[in-house]
Amino acid sequence: MNILPPNIQWAATTSLERGPVVAGTNAGTARNAIGVHAAGFAIYQGLAAATGALPEGHRPNLHDTGPSIDIGPFPQWTQAGKIVSLDPWGHRVAEVFGEARARGLDIRPSIAVTNGRLRMAEISDSMRRGRLKPDGDILTRSGDICVTKIAIEPVWWLPGIAERLAVTEQTLREALFRCTDGMYPALITRLDRKAFLPPIGGSSVYLFGDTRKLGQPAVNIACRIHDECSGSDVFGSDICTCRPYLALGVEEAICMAQRGGIGIVVYNRKEGRALGEVVKLLVYNVRARSLLGDRAEMYFDCTEQVAGVQDMRFQALSVDVLHWLGVNRVERWISMSNLKSDALVAAGIKIVNQVAIPDEIIPAHAHVEISAKQASGYFSAIN
Ligand SMILES: [Zn+2]
Repeated sequence: MNILPPNIQWAATTSLERGPVVAGTNAGTARNAIGVHAAGFAIYQGLAAATGALPEGHRPNLHDTGPSIDIGPFPQWTQAGKIVSLDPWGHRVAEVFGEARARGLDIRPSIAVTNGRLRMAEISDSMRRGRLKPDGDILTRSGDICVTKIAIEPVWWLPGIAERLAVTEQTLREALFRCTDGMYPALITRLDRKAFLPPIGGSSVYLFGDTRKLGQPAVNIACRIHDECSGSDVFGSDICTCRPYLALGVEEAICMAQRGGIGIVVYNRKEGRALGEVVKLLVYNVRARSLLGDRAEMYFDCTEQVAGVQDMRFQALSVDVLHWLGVNRVERWISMSNLKSDALVAAGIKIVNQVAIPDEIIPAHAHVEISAKQASGYFSAIN
């Protein structure tokens, strides 16, 4: 097959001018991006290919896979520098790039949108205590929460990422090449390929309420951007406030949806401040074995001693999802993190009210963490 790779004009006015992101093992020379889709799972694809479980050259059948709701396009999609870490057209590729797909280009969605229901013990508990009331639509009497679920794979526009982080594109490419042990030679050999599908975790987004109001200036938004902490989020570990804060975010999202606004909960796969869970648990040991005791003033030092840095999440990239959803203003921002709120402000998204975690839902052992964060600049007003 001899198809010319389409040019990507990032942030162009229309999807066709922008052009599709073409990546993957089937793309051959007709590609314009570095990497593969679901890149964090590429090694499993390798196992499936090696064992013959994955047929060579398989292409996804996208029939009936399209998004369950309309999202965008919003003005932010075509404003230079607003979105650099995801493909705003990623959920609509089958529709807007159908012709290019028919010509043989292996164009795949990097975003999927579906509807579903959630049930969380904390929400059922809030209903029992009368903090939340069922409305039969967003929250049912039996405690089901109706949501739109979105899965987003990272698609990095390298010049935009470099600009956001205030480094040169060359510095960025060289560091990515070095730190992946040379997994992606095209990072340094194909400077014309400026889109990169990095092998990192993506984001899940849960939307609550009438999503047709997305992008409307008057709609009120409640939002939590949550970074993964599986020990707390899934298993209920008591050393941090992650799961309680996530549940508070969901509760606030439901309340906002019930008042006619929209709730947004973003779940980023950035385990242990993007340092990884091994580092996180090593740090727990340092804290537990310190002769001085587990003290707030040593919390960040302990992390830096093991990881070399305190945090590698780069919150400056976390705002892109809000630009993608057409958000300019957040009425209720469910977070105490100055790193996250600074990123929003720098991106031109206004925060009207910041909602701190109530004292009564902080686990006993998590006070060291919360005190350390407050001392480092976290928002601490009790709301
Ligand atoms: Zn945690």
